[in-house]
Amino acid sequence: MEEKVEVRCRSCHHRFKVPSGRELVECPTCSQKWRLKWFDETTATILAPESWVEFQAKMKGVNPVRNSIGAANPTAEQRDIISNGVKK
Ligand SMILES: [Zn+2]
Repeated sequence: MEEKVEVRCRSCHHRFKVPSGRELVECPTCSQKWRLKWFDETTATILAPESWVEFQAKMKGVNPVRNSIGAANPTAEQRDIISNGVKK
């Protein structure tokens, strides 16, 4: 028996369902892979991308305008996005 739990992608902000207890999931909308932290069987939060390198490359592609100024150092905002899920 596998319960499905909904999480929100931190890359494209779409919600998608993941099997309970799965630590590595892939967003069906943007194909970003995420590591999950589970509090119990029905509560999960996205912890971090599977690969920071891959994620940063993807973020540059997704937000070319927004990142155009800070393209050389875009990680501050991205870390901020992720830390929302880490704290709490
Ligand atoms: Zn996504």
